[in-house]
Parts: sequence; structure tokens; C-alpha cells
Amino acid sequence: MSKLSKETKTTLLYILVAFSFSVLMRLIWVYQFYGYEPFIFHGQFMINTNDGYFWAEGARDLLSGTTTNPDAKDFFDRFHQLHDLSPVATAAAELTAFFAYILPFSFESVIFYMPVFLSSLVVVPIILIAKSLKNLEMGLIAALLASIAWSYYNRTMAGYFDTDMLNIVLPMFLLWSIIWAIRTKQDIYLLLTALDILVYRWWYPQSYALETSFFGLILFYTLLFDRENKYNYKLLAMMLFAMMGLPEYVRLVIVFIAYVTLKKESMQQYVYHVLALGLLMYFVTGGFTPIWVKLKGYVFKDVISVGEEGLKLHFFTVMQTIREAGHIPFETFANRISGSPITFVISLTGYAYLSYRHKIMLLALPLVGLGFLASVGGLRFTIYAVPILAFGIAFLITELASLMPTSKLKVLSMLVFTLAILYPNYKHIVAYKVPTVFSANEVKTLDTLKHIATREDYVIGWWDYGYPIRYYADVKTLADGGKHSGSVNFPLSYILTKPQDVAAKMARLDVEQTEKIFAFVDANKKLIEDKNLTIFSTIEQMTTEYGFKDTNDFLLSLQTDIKLPKKTRDIYFYLPFKMINILPTVDLFSNINLMSGKQGAKPFFFVSRNFKDMGDKINFGRGLYLDKKTGNVIIGHQHVPLKRFVKTAYDKHMKLHVDEKLLNITGNLNIIYMSNYNTFLILDDAMYNSLYIQLMVLEKADSKLFEAVELNPNVKIYKLKI
Ligand code: MN
Repeated sequence: MSKLSKETKTTLLYILVAFSFSVLMRLIWVYQFYGYEPFIFHGQFMINTNDGYFWAEGARDLLSGTTTNPDAKDFFDRFHQLHDLSPVATAAAELTAFFAYILPFSFESVIFYMPVFLSSLVVVPIILIAKSLKNLEMGLIAALLASIAWSYYNRTMAGYFDTDMLNIVLPMFLLWSIIWAIRTKQDIYLLLTALDILVYRWWYPQSYALETSFFGLILFYTLLFDRENKYNYKLLAMMLFAMMGLPEYVRLVIVFIAYVTLKKESMQQYVYHVLALGLLMYFVTGGFTPIWVKLKGYVFKDVISVGEEGLKLHFFTVMQTIREAGHIPFETFANRISGSPITFVISLTGYAYLSYRHKIMLLALPLVGLGFLASVGGLRFTIYAVPILAFGIAFLITELASLMPTSKLKVLSMLVFTLAILYPNYKHIVAYKVPTVFSANEVKTLDTLKHIATREDYVIGWWDYGYPIRYYADVKTLADGGKHSGSVNFPLSYILTKPQDVAAKMARLDVEQTEKIFAFVDANKKLIEDKNLTIFSTIEQMTTEYGFKDTNDFLLSLQTDIKLPKKTRDIYFYLPFKMINILPTVDLFSNINLMSGKQGAKPFFFVSRNFKDMGDKINFGRGLYLDKKTGNVIIGHQHVPLKRFVKTAYDKHMKLHVDEKLLNITGNLNIIYMSNYNTFLILDDAMYNSLYIQLMVLEKADSKLFEAVELNPNVKIYKLKI
């Protein structure tokens, strides 16, 4: 083995130290919850991000083999059921399947720990960039901070199985390779830059934004300061080839051909021709299209018109339920990037100073810019600024240390300052005890269902539960974390919040209509594209197919004996107890007149867990009381007669007993005391009669329509009989 230089040895040592530190910090959560049964399934912790179950489903299907759907035309479609929305053709699913296949660990372990190890790789480009600036200590300090800084930790902690685990690592490697390319002018960095773009784009298709910004900066730098240098044009050409609008393996081949060509001595006079060819191919293949589409979206926002045909239904949008992003306080923003406002301000100053001393660091501006977009675009963007600002403060620390008289003091000062900037982030990690998405009991129920339902069956559940339901029960769903527009949620909300008979009919209608529309789109791809056909929502399609022009009339007709479509598969209902907290939100989506867009009056629904028995009254909080003597519900100054008082309780065989007292037939308010859950529900008749309350809370399913499959306090699953 050749002897490594001292610098190389130090580099490797620093990488090892920073990487281990990053991994260890991420094991704090594991230590805190070690052996905590509600978070464990199949002997391993479950993940704590909903979207993670999406990638997990794809990876699971890839590993299951090609027998699932052997006749499918598309290669990837052989691995899953048609229209089950499994993301088999995505990078995250592919990489996960690969790791799960080669590593001797369970699939659950692989998805739980992948973010721990992959996100910690961010220390490598950080230290290598510092190496280029001949300041390895700065690299180590920046790597320690960046790897555990608040927002980066939140989005890459153990169990945060999402694309974020490489979303900073890959652009940092890209930054590393362009910095080294420009500083060393070595051919190898032409290739590395192009390959990094290929991998980054494969992993995260929206990466074009950062890639294009880097390209623009290099072009700007070249034209202004280094116009005569042919190497820069080669780099730009290579980037263009990697960013074209062609499939990745085609781009890979072209990149290699371009690299070999540009390396040739005889080709040096044709560099500009190659660059021109790159530009041409980039535009012709639609490389610029995603950027153009985005720009168009911003600039010509209000020109985009709504479809002219159809019933022009008005749906409630999910955005209306998500709390307004609004203004993010400076402190939150600063904490997210650096761990504390002081560190943030010093880091920002440090980055300015670092860029002044080493102009090359200006190439990191797109990452800083994207991070600062958080103030308008949402907190998830802050992670992009984390490593660059970490460079800023790390540079100041090393500059300060260089002023120290002795080398001992130098090391000591670096140590003290580093620990000081790490501490707020460490404290955040210790306090950040996020739960898993599902509890072990919920997952056990889904696991049972997996052995009952087939892969073509549908499980109806609110969209929040879509990905985990599909992952654990291996079924289809109507909605999930990526499919939950107002038109998708309308029938779902209708099913969960309306009475059993119409809910049952809507369930059958929506599932069959969903599959029908999928099949129609498959069979008429060309026609749809040529004629630019609009694909209408399931509810609109039902309305017209039943001969109505007004959706309200169609919905009314559900109360009559309408003829339902042919049953092609089974349908199950997933009703978790925790959904009780979001029931009013669920209701919003179907509590709307689709023809006019007018929202209906909010139902009365109140969940009380902090109630107090005051003798003659029960205080539910928020000015809501039950007057035990009169049986009235007191809302502020209003006294409203109570219709029913219902008490539910489990016996020792875990069988639910429901004790119902009808008090006043003319009343509209009901109280349900769920004794084992320590929960009171105060709700109007509409909510009381909803499928969710009747099936989940009271277990009063109409036996002509539903059959209980699994009943436990956490989750209840029913099967549709019609
Ligand atoms: Mn499937």
C-alpha cells in the first residue's frame, strides 16, 4: 500500500470523526425509546414520517419479484398491481430495495436506519471543500455542526425515511466537484460534475433548479473573469449534457462520450462547437422546460383558466386546511439553520467574510438562496443553507484560533467554540422526541388485514393514513399523502361523515369509478393527449353517468334504491380512534355544495378530555357544560336540551357495551361518554349518525351493509357487503 500523505490521513480521520459523530447523535432517539413497545413492529422501530411509507411500498414491491403482474407492458409494472400507485420506478424505492437486498438486516431496519447513514455522508463533501481551501479544521468544525444542525437533524433523523436523506448530500457533492473543477482544472472533475448531476436528478427530479443556478453562476464567472479559459466551457458543456431532457441512461452514455471527446488533444480546437452542441441538445430535448413551466406559473399565474366543459364543480382544497404558512419568525428561521439566533448571525457574517477571502465560496450562493426561500416557501427549505452557513462560523473559529499565541491555545479555543455552537443543536436533539407515524397496535391490525384482503381490494381511510395502509396491508387506497385534492377527498369525506346507507353506496361507487377512470385513461392515452381531454373527478363522472346535471340531485338519489355498479373487488374501512381529532376537518371536504362552492354550516362536534365533574354539572371546557339536573347542555348562555346520553365501555373480554339513554326526542345534541378513552363527545345528530361515529365509536354497523373484520380500541375495520 502506498504511503498516504499527512494531509490525506488527516482528511480521512476528520471524515471518520465527523461521520461517527453524526451517526451517534442520531442514535440518541433510539436510546431514548429503546424497548418502547408502541413504537416497535416486527422487532424494529417504525418510521416517523408519513411519506416514508410511500418509498417503502415501492421498495417492498420491487423486492417481491416480477411475478405480481407478469404480463405488464412496462417493465416496472410487473412488480405491482396496476393503479395501486406504488412508486416502484423512483430512485428512493430502488436504492432502498438495493440496500435491503444486499444487507443482512430486516427491511424494517433498513428503512429506519437509512437516513442515519446516508444523511451523515454530508460530512464528506464539506471536509473535501475545506481541503481545497487548505483549511481542514474549518471542514471538521463545519461538518460537525452541519450534520446535526436543527432542521437538518429534523429531516434526516433515525426513521425520517424520505428523500431528504440525500437531498443535501448530493448538491454538496456537486458544489465540491465544481469548486475542485474550477480550482484544479483537472479533467476528472468534468466527469464527476456530470455524474453527480445525473445521480442528483435521478434521486430528486426537482434538482434542476439548483443545477441550473450552479450552471448560471459558472457561466457568469467565466464570461466576467475567465473568458479565455477553455476548461470552463468544457465544464459548462458537460453540465448541459447531464441536464438534458432525456432518460438518465441515455444521458449517462452521452456524458461519457462527451468526456472522452473533450479529453482528446486533437479536440481542443472544437470546444466551442461541443458547447454549442450541448446548448442545442439541452433546449431541443426540453431540458429547459421544467424551468419555463415554473416561470410561467409565477409570471402568468392568473391567465391559467379553468376547463370550459363539464359541470364546473367547486371542491374544497387541502391548502385551506393547512395553517397559513405566513410569516416565519426570525428566531425560528435562525434556529432551524444554525441552532440559535446568535450562531446564525455570526455564521452569516462568517460566510460573507469567507467569500471575501475565498471568492470560490460564492459558488455556494444558490444553496444559501434556497435556504432563505424558507421565509416565503416554507420551513423545509432551511436545510439547504445549513452546511454553507456552518462553513461561515467554522471559518471564523479557525481564523480566531490562528491568532492564538501557542498551538495548545489554538486547539483549545477551537474546541471551546465548537462545543458552544454544537450545544444548542444537541439540546434540540435530546428534546425532539417525535413519535412514530403509527402505533404498534394500529399496525398489528393492518397486518391482520393483509392476510384477509387481496392486493386488488380497496381500504377506505382518510388520506393521512393512505401510505401506511398500503404499506402494511398491501392493498389499494383512494387517497394518500400525494393524492388528496378536493375532488379525491370529497367522496372520502362523504363516506366517513354521512349516514351508513349513503356512505356504503358512495364507497362502492367511488372505488368502481376510480378503477374505471384508470382503465379509460390507459386505453385512451393517445386520444386524451391529442384532443387534450379533461379527466373529470369520480363524483362528476358518477353524476353524469346516472343522468344528472346537478351533483346535489345525484347525491339525493343515493337515498333511493339506485342500481350500483358491478362489484369487482372487496372494500374495507379503516377507522382509527385517533381520527376523532380530525373529524371536523374531514367533514369540511363534503360539507360543500359542489355546484355553487358554498360551504355548509359547521356541524357541532366537540371532543373533551379535560372535563371536570363539579357535582351538579360536568365542565367540558371552553364554556361547555352538562347540567345534570335538567339534562341540558350549556353553551355559553344557551341551554340546549340533550337528545341522547350514551356511555361506552369495554368489558374484560374487550367487548364494547353501549348504554344509550334517549332523553329528549326533540333535541339535536348528543353526548357520548367513551369511558375507557376518558373522552366525552358532544355532537349534533348529523355527526352522531355518521359512519365514523356509528362504526368506530358505537359499533352499530348495519349488518346488511357492513361486516366487522377487526374490532379493537385503537382501530376498527369493517368490510362492505354491497
Ligand atoms: Mn400493490
